[in-house]
Amino acid sequence: MDASKLHPDTLALHAGFRSDPATGAVAVPVYQTTSYQFRDTEHAANLFGLAELGNIYTRIMNPTNDVLEQRLTAMEGGAAALAVASGQAATTFAIMNLCEAGDNFVTSTDLYGGTWNLFANTFKQMGIEARFADPADPESFRKLTDDKTRCYYAETLPNPKLEVFPIQEVADIGRSIGVPLIVDNTAAPLICRPIEHGAAIVMYSTTKYIGGHGTSIGGLIIDSGTFDWEAHKERFPLLSRPDPSYHGAVWIEAAKPLGPIAYILRARVTLLRDVGAAMSPMNAFQFIQGVESLPLRIRRHCENAAKVAGFLNDHADVTRVIYPGFMEGEARRRADAYLEGKQYGGLVGFELKGGLEAGRKFIDSLELLYHVANIGDARSLAIHPASTTHSQLSAEDQAASGVTPGYIRLSVGIEHAEDIIADIEQALAKL
Ligand code: PLP
Repeated sequence: MDASKLHPDTLALHAGFRSDPATGAVAVPVYQTTSYQFRDTEHAANLFGLAELGNIYTRIMNPTNDVLEQRLTAMEGGAAALAVASGQAATTFAIMNLCEAGDNFVTSTDLYGGTWNLFANTFKQMGIEARFADPADPESFRKLTDDKTRCYYAETLPNPKLEVFPIQEVADIGRSIGVPLIVDNTAAPLICRPIEHGAAIVMYSTTKYIGGHGTSIGGLIIDSGTFDWEAHKERFPLLSRPDPSYHGAVWIEAAKPLGPIAYILRARVTLLRDVGAAMSPMNAFQFIQGVESLPLRIRRHCENAAKVAGFLNDHADVTRVIYPGFMEGEARRRADAYLEGKQYGGLVGFELKGGLEAGRKFIDSLELLYHVANIGDARSLAIHPASTTHSQLSAEDQAASGVTPGYIRLSVGIEHAEDIIADIEQALAKL
């Protein structure tokens, strides 16, 4: 089977696994094991020496996780992937795999709050500087770049602003000066394929749409295999300098017999080995179940969100609807350029005329939609950021991040659209 000829919908069900070699099982088994019997001492030595890739210990690799990694790699058009314990772990590893103390990276300002904290505080404590660039101005990434800049970072469809990131523009700037772009595609799986637009690395919080059922926390990093680390090796000492933690391996060289996977190989055999933020095989199994129906679900999320956005747009108590399909100018051009087939994702924001109090009242009046701090569940979700996720920020910082007092964020689920709209309508009627 030539995976390159199959559509993502087919790969979601088939890539990386046919049947269990021991039992013939068609569903991917949960290999709930910590360790693996070596065939003999030579086999063990080869595995440890990376002369052969294979299972050693589940902190570093696991056959269930491997199927998830292969499946997402195929769907994303990448070279190899690494599953980790959460989206936060994926972001941490994605950056730490290139940056050490004294280095910097340039990131879009439009980020998930947890990522913002990681960048502005925890990485700062580690001596790694995050430089914040305006996503509306791709050139701002170039301006903030110097010899110590190891990568760029951005989210495809950041909320609450929901303005699609200029992936190709920033990836092109980066590639011209040897800086890889890492894209967090959590909010737009399948509807955006960042590697096709020049991203070097893609990451996910699989907790969201990939899992899809709100059962498990997880993360994934996908290496496109298209970034030429060797051509810019002075920028990437962690990949081009002998690694004392692995008997002097130079990752750019060590990966050559295995494919264009220097980046993801290093992440697995050094960061995952040392930090240990491994995905549990049971969670990998849950994510595989999610991936298999992701193509169907994401279409329905998008269709329902478009209907909900249309309803809100016509409602007298709503002053503004934040939805990529309603944007104009450059923001709309990017939405159409990077989100396939006018599928604008499952997230919708809107502002209530009545401000903070109306926001709280609306949330408390919902009966079908869940009030939770999450996105990407099959169920419809709602949150009022000003009184929850963004309540610690000053009014000015809230405004800068796109949150106004009456702002509501919806993660539109896959229920019948009429039922979602009816619940929103009855909650609005109580204001
Ligand atoms: N990236 C985005 C865009 C997110 O929305 C989140 C979580 O909300 C994360 C990363 C972090 O993922 P996790 O909660 O799986 O650690």
